[in-house]
Amino acid sequence: MRITAVVIGAGQAGLAMSWWLAQRSIDHVVLERGEVANSWRTERWDSLRLLTPNWQSRLPGFGYDGDDPDGFRTMPQTVDFIARYARTISAPLETATRVTSVRATDEGYQVQTNRGDWRCRGVVLASGACNIASVPALSAAVPRSIAALTPMEYRNPDQLADGGVLVVGASATGIQLADEIHRSGRPLTLAVGEHVRVPRVYRGKDIQWWMDAAGVLDERYDQIDDIVRARNLPSLQLVGTPERTTLDLNALTSIGVKLVGRLAGIRDGKAQFSGSLKNHCALADLKMVRLLDTIDEWASANGIDAGVPPPHRFEPTKIDPAPPLEMDLTSGEIATILWTTGYRPDTSWLDVPVFDRKGRIRHDGGVIIDAPGMYLMGMPFLRRRKSSLIDGAGSDARDLSGHLKSFLDGGSG
Ligand SMILES: Cc1cc2nc3c(=O)[nH]c(=O)nc-3n(C[C@H](O)[C@H](O)[C@H](O)COP(=O)(O)OP(=O)(O)OC[C@H]3O[C@@H](n4cnc5c(N)ncnc54)[C@H](O)[C@@H]3O)c2cc1C
Repeated sequence: MRITAVVIGAGQAGLAMSWWLAQRSIDHVVLERGEVANSWRTERWDSLRLLTPNWQSRLPGFGYDGDDPDGFRTMPQTVDFIARYARTISAPLETATRVTSVRATDEGYQVQTNRGDWRCRGVVLASGACNIASVPALSAAVPRSIAALTPMEYRNPDQLADGGVLVVGASATGIQLADEIHRSGRPLTLAVGEHVRVPRVYRGKDIQWWMDAAGVLDERYDQIDDIVRARNLPSLQLVGTPERTTLDLNALTSIGVKLVGRLAGIRDGKAQFSGSLKNHCALADLKMVRLLDTIDEWASANGIDAGVPPPHRFEPTKIDPAPPLEMDLTSGEIATILWTTGYRPDTSWLDVPVFDRKGRIRHDGGVIIDAPGMYLMGMPFLRRRKSSLIDGAGSDARDLSGHLKSFLDGGSG
């Protein structure tokens, strides 16, 4: 089959791109291996809610029209939202269609699927940044008596054996699962490396409101000093709850979660934790203060001060002055390890030489290098700080569809 452009993936990124391609009259199809919003349907745990408020899930031509703009969607609500979007925009979808290879041809690309091949001039990779749980190589040394799990497999605490749990990684996923599992009666140890601490609510408003209003989320990839580092930053320690709870390390230790440093190695059945816990926490506290300073300066400069409570600061992270540096994984204290050490994309089906030495796709703000007509969506800080959020898909899709349009029209793009 021939078509002008193929979009791979029907999450928010692929659908926002579809909306923009339609606006620009670019004939296209959206190929999806599962159903629309497949990742939200199949790869998330039961209790998960979005950590971005309802008002912040803005897709092109589609905003929030309910009566709880400050609430946080559950997974069924998120799936419903994205599926409704696909219907509203009449996206040209082919579901149950798994892309098995993409190859360059003289005229563009050949996209092979389990349901036939497509030939096209433009390809948009919107297959997700979080297809695979990243698990460190040292996991191979975990004693066999311990069950190991990733967030892709975890659904709820009932799945776990009784006994202690070691959660490795303290970003959004790690802190949310640490909280849930500890509350289920399984004593929890959390290994904490670099993390980004933020309050849920500051001066009466959601932190996402401040970051959106102050322009932090709109910062562009080409205006950032160290984009490689910015793209690798851990996710914010945030949870979406009806109570708008702040879930930071202090909240976790207050319910009895034990904090240890970064998991640095496993030797002879013993987990070894780095002595950097204090430094990591101090750095996260400092960076939170810097963010709040930025917000306060913006509020003053923009006449917001009068309408909100005055600036204030939060208690520093409280840690044990001498946290344990070792834990015997053969003692029976730990029954389960949960690797909340991040996610990575799966582009194993992409047979075009666009990867760097670390296996990452080389791109300039989503325009894939050395692959004319090929684009990337949904990656962290792809074009803007918000690129991997639902709210970031629209502006990136607008820019990249514009680039594709000029490429198709014979311009340089
Ligand atoms: C645990 C978690 C919580 C998050 N919470 C929030 C939040 O609260 N707010 C927010 O804004 N963002 C959140 N995000 C970030 C982001 O919004 C999600 O990762 C979102 O799913 C990304 O959308 P996407 O369209 O880029 O990718 P995906 O939703 O992953 O969509 C990609 C689609 O491509 C399909 N696909 C993949 N490979 C193929 C193939 N070979 N052939 C055909 N189809 C394929 C997949 O089935 C999938 O449907 C969260 C991410 C995670 C992991």
